[in-house]
Amino acid sequence: MARPAPSMFVPLDVNYMRDPRIRRAGPDAELLYIRALAYAKGGETDGFVHDYDIDVIAVGLSKPLARVAALVREGAWSEQEGGWFITGWFNWNQSTTSLRDKKRRQAEGAAKTNHKKHLNNGVDFIRDCPVCLGDVEPA
Ligand SMILES: [Zn+2]
Repeated sequence: MARPAPSMFVPLDVNYMRDPRIRRAGPDAELLYIRALAYAKGGETDGFVHDYDIDVIAVGLSKPLARVAALVREGAWSEQEGGWFITGWFNWNQSTTSLRDKKRRQAEGAAKTNHKKHLNNGVDFIRDCPVCLGDVEPA
């Protein structure tokens, strides 16, 4: 079975259970925190939790806004216009922009390599080659 792409995972500090902010916020807030990590990564929100999504993220939890308040009180989340920010997000995650740049550079590198190969094989043009199409600068 193929491994899912790295974009399908979010880092979770193995010591997070010992983080006083998480312990003081309580177990329901902890669950909300963990779910929000997956939400932010999956939605490429750069650590932002939109207020209009909180009911979906907190489904099954009682008093979601009290859990949010506990996370804010402990500094695990901060209040922002339109929602909350997971304060440690960028300690563990690259920005969506830099991840996209990295992906684009890797794709361009692969296109240049493939372009060189087909030129070396005497094929001057391939219609789905991004370098032949002018979408990627030749190396
Ligand atoms: Zn080409």
